[in-house]
Amino acid sequence: MKRKIIYIDMDGVIADFDKRKQELYPGERRPELKMDFSKLDVIPGAESALIRLNQDFDIFIASTPVWDRPETWSQKREWIAKHFPYLKQKLILLHRKDLLIGDILIDDSRWRGQPDFQGEWYWFNKDWSSRDWKACLEWIYKNKHNYGE
Ligand SMILES: [Mg+2]
Repeated sequence: MKRKIIYIDMDGVIADFDKRKQELYPGERRPELKMDFSKLDVIPGAESALIRLNQDFDIFIASTPVWDRPETWSQKREWIAKHFPYLKQKLILLHRKDLLIGDILIDDSRWRGQPDFQGEWYWFNKDWSSRDWKACLEWIYKNKHNYGE
């Protein structure tokens, strides 16, 4: 049976951009212009959530690096290798998430085409009901997205 495909965003979903921003660049208007993306912490709950999702789905990481900072492209690659080594060669760097072909997109932003994704978009951290990985997993498994159909 073909497994369903899930795309998972990095910053704000599995990589703790906000925590590092508060620690090093409080008040900075565009911290992404200085941030080392290989040094971010993992968002609480993401490690166990991805282990579980990886058992039931074909999961990929879909992230948008900073165009004018080419080093952020490799920093994201390094971060995945360090924290999610089993996702080797499953990192997609892009600026148009609406072009991804798959079943579910887990993303906390709506500015990279997420609303036009052809599958179902889980708006991570949109409000209290979608604020963390526990809520996200409940949504995925309650909606019977598991194990294909
Ligand atoms: Mg994000």
